[in-house]
Amino acid sequence: MILPGHIAAAYLAARALGTDLCAGLAASMFPDLVDKPVRWLFRLTPNDRIPAHTLLMCMLTSAGARLLFGRRFSRGWLVGYGAHLLCDQANAHLNPGRLYLWWPFKRYKMHIGPTGLASSLDDFTPASLVLEGIVVALAVAAWLLGPEER
Ligand SMILES: [Zn+2]
Repeated sequence: MILPGHIAAAYLAARALGTDLCAGLAASMFPDLVDKPVRWLFRLTPNDRIPAHTLLMCMLTSAGARLLFGRRFSRGWLVGYGAHLLCDQANAHLNPGRLYLWWPFKRYKMHIGPTGLASSLDDFTPASLVLEGIVVALAVAAWLLGPEER
């Protein structure tokens, strides 16, 4: 999934679970803000889904969020991070590449992934773009119709 879908999914998850929206939105962008530059700019990894698209990083950053910002923020962070990983897992079934959730504890045959936004978008199938559109439409509908403080 790409940025609009990640933000939409984190919004929906935070609304559904009643967790901190700011933490969830921040966490929903974190894995890509780490892994894309590591792959695309520095070419340090074989693809753009390690090291931040892993359960280890999810748990470590959630623990760090707890220490720095407290329980409510860390729960929101965990939900947003989980929404990101869940969306990318769904996407991995529709496009080349996959998630390596148990890295570095499990050895994987790594997909050699794209090295930039254009090549990354070339990997997207129409089905994944439809999924992205559905998630974004649901979030917009929830935002417009929801009983939030505004
Ligand atoms: Zn991602």
